[in-house]
Amino acid sequence: MHSVKTTMMPVPLSLNRLMEHAGQLFPESEIVSRLPDKSLRRHRYADWYRRTRALAAALKKLGLRKGDRVATLCWNHHAHLECYFGIPAAGGVMHTLNLRLAPDDIGWIARHARDRFLVVDDILLPLYRQFAGQHRFERVIVFPFSGAAVQTSIGDPHDGEPAFDDYEELLAQAPAGFEYAPHDENDPVAMCYTSGTTGRPKGVVYSHRSTVLHSLNCALPDYVALSSRDVVIPVTPMFHANSWGIPYAAVMLGAKLVFPGPHLHPEDLLDLMQQEPPTLTLGVPTIWLALIQAFEAKPGRWRLPAGMRSMVGGAAVPEALVRQFERHGIRLAQGWGMTETSPMGSLFFEKPELRGQLDEDQWFARKAMAGVPVPLVEVRIMGDAGPCAWNGRDVGELQVRGPFITGSYHAEAPGADKFTGDGWLRTGDVAAIDANGYIRIADRTKDLIKSGGEWISSVDPENAIMAHPAVAEASVIAIAHPKWGERPLACVVAKPGATVSGEELRAFIAPKFARWQLPDAFEFIDAVPRTSTGKFWKARLRERFADFRWPDESPAGNLPVGS
Ligand code: ADP
Repeated sequence: MHSVKTTMMPVPLSLNRLMEHAGQLFPESEIVSRLPDKSLRRHRYADWYRRTRALAAALKKLGLRKGDRVATLCWNHHAHLECYFGIPAAGGVMHTLNLRLAPDDIGWIARHARDRFLVVDDILLPLYRQFAGQHRFERVIVFPFSGAAVQTSIGDPHDGEPAFDDYEELLAQAPAGFEYAPHDENDPVAMCYTSGTTGRPKGVVYSHRSTVLHSLNCALPDYVALSSRDVVIPVTPMFHANSWGIPYAAVMLGAKLVFPGPHLHPEDLLDLMQQEPPTLTLGVPTIWLALIQAFEAKPGRWRLPAGMRSMVGGAAVPEALVRQFERHGIRLAQGWGMTETSPMGSLFFEKPELRGQLDEDQWFARKAMAGVPVPLVEVRIMGDAGPCAWNGRDVGELQVRGPFITGSYHAEAPGADKFTGDGWLRTGDVAAIDANGYIRIADRTKDLIKSGGEWISSVDPENAIMAHPAVAEASVIAIAHPKWGERPLACVVAKPGATVSGEELRAFIAPKFARWQLPDAFEFIDAVPRTSTGKFWKARLRERFADFRWPDESPAGNLPVGS
């Protein structure tokens, strides 16, 4: 028998190719960065290309070896984008440090990753100094984001102080004639630690191959539909799962990028949207909750860019939020993902077989779900008795597999709690998938409320509460209960100037739930604590209410569970 071999070239998938493509095809595309003083700085892709190659050449001159980690401690701006491509171009691995973590945690992560060099914004040097004692970088390259001169110092190897280099000076003095080192498509390009919302941070390492495939997926018209016509404001930090991979994809396509810098206050974002109206934005739900409230609080002050679409994910998205944005003509497309999944695992789109089939309310219910899997990502729901049917009802752990999904963690033995024996990532999310492939995330395993013999989702009641016009934020958590094991407590933030009682809220959401699923108590608080990536931080809330005691006659006390 004659076997057949492919005739295709074994050219590795490469981030360098995307960079060359952008440099050649889109020299006029724009990159706008908002600086610490709120002024805007403009570059063309031609500048970015030249500077990125200079960064790669400079890193090599400093002695960067293949596979060395170069950490970044930076806001979203053009120089961070230069690192995204310039570090891998030099053969290094870009490691984005999360500047919102506690300094001790940042130091621990840098040490665990064995970061060799650091690129840091000058305005973040005070933060760097708080963890510098925990991990010694060989070189600290300071980006003069504020415009002030960088105080370079000769490092003293005896006191452990590394030299400071001026990023701009390094680029200006970089040797000409940079050449990419040959590489395999499975060589690493970047790494990112999970933010540790539910445990110790773990390192995920992306490859040329995974990053290119993920970028191509970002361009698919049914999903993000990113194109050269887009103007993108990535609000999601570049240290949070690579700003959801969008900067890589935007460069591949020559889209205009507008980076918000350090100013992420809702009014600052609205101002930026007036100056540089985006067609696409991305951020976690808390960003959009705050933004729409600020927008509605000052009618007439801002306009929301007509036709803008917005990707939202990273945490449950209340249906009320989707509706609120659509009233202003803005489409929120919900996605699901994790640092481990590059991160885009699923995203909403209107499947053709449903067009004309669903009424408006049914569409909104779909939009409040986590979308359908993107191509190349396999999903399954694992129940106690094996994989569940896609019937929208059977709930189990969401498990995923694919070429841009991590199969292990950096420098850690792959634990059975994170990976199945047959090679799937265990997400720790509890979900159901319906017959059309739409995923409904019921909760995180750790946030579910175990009441009697039943599980109660914390997500459903909190989203229902957030639909009340007097409510700004709500988060439902499990509180230990002497009779039922756990019962739900709703922590609610009222809108400024609004008043509402727990009784009213209970009555408001009651039609949507069985009685035993309703929160037994409502506590009014000033704000729901946020994680380092801006999500509601339920672990913190649980700590805060650890001493909470149910009244003797808790309503749940008389409830037949399951009623
Ligand atoms: P962390 O675990 O620290 O939050 P990630 O940013 O990687 O770090 O978050 C991944 C998790 O975010 C998922 O496992 C899931 O629990 C949650 N998540 C992401 N997207 C959604 C969504 N659309 N709906 C509900 N939860 C989501």
